[in-house]
Amino acid sequence: MKVLISRDIPRRGIELLTAEGYEVTVCPDDRLLTQVELIDLARRHDALLCMFSDAIDKHFLNECKHLKVIAQFAVGYDNIDIAESTRLRIPIGNTPDVLSGATADVAFLLMLAASRKGFHLHKSISLGQWSFFRPNAHLGLELRNKTLGIFGLGRIGMEMARLCAGAYQMKILYHNRTNNAAAEKMFAARRVEFDDLLAHSDVLSVHSSLTEETRGIFNKNAFCRMKRTAIFVNTARGPIHNETDLIEALHDGTIWGAGLDVTNPEPMKTDNPLLAMENVAVLPHIGSSTIETRDEMARVAAENIICGLRGKRLPTIVNPEVYTNPGASNPLA
Ligand code: NAP
Repeated sequence: MKVLISRDIPRRGIELLTAEGYEVTVCPDDRLLTQVELIDLARRHDALLCMFSDAIDKHFLNECKHLKVIAQFAVGYDNIDIAESTRLRIPIGNTPDVLSGATADVAFLLMLAASRKGFHLHKSISLGQWSFFRPNAHLGLELRNKTLGIFGLGRIGMEMARLCAGAYQMKILYHNRTNNAAAEKMFAARRVEFDDLLAHSDVLSVHSSLTEETRGIFNKNAFCRMKRTAIFVNTARGPIHNETDLIEALHDGTIWGAGLDVTNPEPMKTDNPLLAMENVAVLPHIGSSTIETRDEMARVAAENIICGLRGKRLPTIVNPEVYTNPGASNPLA
């Protein structure tokens, strides 16, 4: 069996695969492959371990329908046409849970950095702008006892709620399509309508998946309904916010600040006005980027590949329908 890994991953994942006797190809160049290149390579393999930046769309899937399993090295899978994978009976795995703590840490870091202008002030020192003490300079916002609004309170949102409730006794509001009973019990979180989330959050942190429903939902209209003192944090996916509208909202004081680990597009251009704003903190999509978490992601992705190639159910399956679709042959049979 041959396994293709579209970008180098921690050794632990590769070792698990080679221990199974698989022939593993790690794409040698440290760059994004074009889809043509990825298809060409994937055609010569039985399984693919891919990244969220690989376009696993209808075209790719139909060119590579021989693949026995695709394991995404991420929890989000908006780059994969799940309906088409299911139709072609290709099981898709992802890496939930193991990255929730690390990603929430980044949301918390961005919230704090934006509230105290941390990234801007760090840069200002190297520009020689640290002068005398001025009581009215560099004023930030306190977070203690404020309200955290979570858009998409799932696994990562829970960790963000835990951090904010613990550190600053923040009150938790959230907007999901369904209730999160655990959050309501643990943090006295309250589920509210989207409009109320906008109106009442001091910090609004986005943790939903990117879908057609959430794409662009944080636009001019949404920012206009937020507090003028609000901080917008997005560590989920860049296209959930409209970046032009966000720049305008920050520029004209519609909202106070922003912390972004995800941007639209990625990578962010060096002349993006957000990079020059005092109350903004931007990171280059590093949510899950700790040694421990990436190691765990490599393990989970490798275990998905191993189970897929053995014809077993993937431990973290995104499209369980591949095993249950009536009328279609069961790949586990
Ligand atoms: P999760 O447990 O599935 O949580 C997602 C939450 O979003 C769910 O609670 C879901 O609740 C809610 N949601 C989905 N659609 C919604 C809608 N239309 N309106 C309101 N809420 C909606 O996923 P997770 O593990 O926390 O991961 C969340 C996202 O974070 C991933 O999809 C990924 O894109 C992103 N992420 C980013 C990084 C990074 O490096 N920055 C790292 C990891 C993950 P309902 O179903 O009840 O609506």
